[in-house]
Amino acid sequence: MGEVKSALRSHVGRVRSVNEDYGWVGQLQGGLSAAIVADGMGGHLAGEIASGLAVESLVQSLREWREDLSAKESEDRMRDMIRKANEVVFNTASLNKRYRNMGTTVVVALLNEKEGLIGHIGDSRAYRIRDGQLSLITDDHTLVNELAKMGQLTPEEAQHHPRRNVLTRALGTERDVAIDIRRIDWMPGDQLLLCSDGLSGMVDDDALLSTMTDPSLDLEQKAERLVELALAAGGEDNVTVALVGYDPEEASGGSGGNASRGENGRAGGVPNGGAEGMSA
Ligand code: CA
Repeated sequence: MGEVKSALRSHVGRVRSVNEDYGWVGQLQGGLSAAIVADGMGGHLAGEIASGLAVESLVQSLREWREDLSAKESEDRMRDMIRKANEVVFNTASLNKRYRNMGTTVVVALLNEKEGLIGHIGDSRAYRIRDGQLSLITDDHTLVNELAKMGQLTPEEAQHHPRRNVLTRALGTERDVAIDIRRIDWMPGDQLLLCSDGLSGMVDDDALLSTMTDPSLDLEQKAERLVELALAAGGEDNVTVALVGYDPEEASGGSGGNASRGENGRAGGVPNGGAEGMSA
């Protein structure tokens, strides 16, 4: 079995003065890995509060996650977890005038050694990279994506549309919200990329893929490079990148995951760079 690593970067960008994104990556009990990206919105500091509260609530729920759940139970649990985060943000907004109408996108990935659950609201994205291909797992909850799906905009027009930021769904803006849950398979060699639209709106798929498949970069360097690409493209928005990599088994002759852990001098189970981190 391969080893799971994660990396996280968040940057305010070159135009905004406040970073309203929030990201988290970490290891949970039972050998689970998780990653979250949230992109807050609202006046003044409200967006920052919304994404922070959502991530904090999700991390708390993830820490209580038990692995011995059926597929149906784990999907329900993921939905409940996001619903709870929605409630926290919505209630805070209702109680405080300054935070009225604040909200956030959220994409959360929970992975064991063979599959993953992706929960999502808004236009932050999850991609899986496998066999040199980039697959978008999430469906943007944006007005332009709705129009594109109805054939009223081409995907190209949607990508550059001036109102591409308008969301059809967000976490925390309503008492109840529809949540997308997807189950993916996950195997050694795969990588997962979660990001805010400060990356996906600025950097095209080819550049995402060539960075993620560059054999000269480790996972931390890939996260760094992706942020640099967004900044080089203008850095018009906050940019957050959370990566999870499932290292393939060592080539024949090696002694598997233990060897690479040994080289890094790390205790078993703690991934390289996965000292859990939060950044806004
Ligand atoms: Ca954004």
